[in-house]
Amino acid sequence: MLRLVTRCYGKIRKAGMNKDLHSQHHRFHSHPTRRDFFVQSLGGALASVSVLELAFNRAAWARALAPTVGGTPLFDIKKVADDVYFAIARVQALINSNSVIFVNSRDVLIVDSQSKPSATAALITQIKKEVTPKPVRFVVNTHFHDDHVQGNSAYTKGGAKVDFIASVSAGELMAKEIPIRLKETLDISVPAQIETVHKFYGKATSADEREFWKEQLRQLEAFQAEMKTFSLELPTITFAKSHVIRDRAHDIHIEFHGRAHTSGDVVVFCPQKRVVATGDMINGSLPYMPDAYPTAWPKTIDSVADLRFDQILSGHGPIMNRDRMVNFRNYIEETNTRVEEGKKAGKSLTELQKSITLASLKSLQDNGYGRYVAEIRDGLFPHWGRTFVEIKEDFQDAVNGVTAQVYRNLDRV
Ligand SMILES: [Zn+2]
Ligand SMILES: [Zn+2]
Repeated sequence: MLRLVTRCYGKIRKAGMNKDLHSQHHRFHSHPTRRDFFVQSLGGALASVSVLELAFNRAAWARALAPTVGGTPLFDIKKVADDVYFAIARVQALINSNSVIFVNSRDVLIVDSQSKPSATAALITQIKKEVTPKPVRFVVNTHFHDDHVQGNSAYTKGGAKVDFIASVSAGELMAKEIPIRLKETLDISVPAQIETVHKFYGKATSADEREFWKEQLRQLEAFQAEMKTFSLELPTITFAKSHVIRDRAHDIHIEFHGRAHTSGDVVVFCPQKRVVATGDMINGSLPYMPDAYPTAWPKTIDSVADLRFDQILSGHGPIMNRDRMVNFRNYIEETNTRVEEGKKAGKSLTELQKSITLASLKSLQDNGYGRYVAEIRDGLFPHWGRTFVEIKEDFQDAVNGVTAQVYRNLDRV
């Protein structure tokens, strides 16, 4: 079975190429419902999930998950405070980061760009239409990953004066890693995905399915074509600890609190509006750890938690509250502890992955966190013809992926 890896989340998808869609549909209908899945796999966590929280996020998240075909906007833009907006990225074949929009008195500051300039250009058009005609003057890249930086050049197209702001470390990693990783994406992972899509298209049994696979193919080929002539816009302002932009509308504090998802993650904090943009350091999915510092990460979140904010605008997924930040932090810490103990007891990675199950992780049971994150993850990526059985396996696979990454990186300092 071919395994596909989507970048940033490193999510391993089971493409299920050797099963025909007819048998998948049969299993689809005969398998217990989603609700059953979450109750069974997460030990009844459903009962304790916050109904209010779900209601708060549901409308925006549901819109964000609507299929993006033809002229549908790539983002769902939501006002979160006066002069602060959250652009939630809709599902695409290649994942895009969310962006946060701070409307200053004369200009605009944006947090993070997307995986390709055309996606960011689409966001710029949407901002002009839905938010403000003021020019974008600053772009903060929360960290060096492709889905947060490769859209930068859309902001300087036409010669606009824009400063790109990042930590020193993120700036260095962008310059070093993006060309290497983009080449791998274009040479290996996108062609593999295209091959898989062709196979699914050939087996599709309805017009809807064919339309879905055609759209995936269109997005993948458009990415290939666009990125052949890509040039990266690097940071123009880098800093070690903190960079503050003061404006009549509000102050914007761009801060490095320590290593976490990468060596150079920053948060963008607005004290007057009590919001913080966190990139992938605190987000609605599972922590992505190939470039991470697992033991430092929870401490870095603790430091960010000292800031006075109510809403967390993360790189992926809907708006988060402080409780979800604590859940996310605790999941990392619990995985660290269990991997560390396992290593001391001489356990292999495979043995550890067998014991670190969804049901055994206390942090996933707390306040329905496992269900919350599984639902968000399920909405972040296109469904590559999976059945519900595969979705459940997929979440355990994702947890196994985190366990493996912690196993490898636990001693990184
Ligand atoms: Zn990301
Ligand atoms: Zn990232």
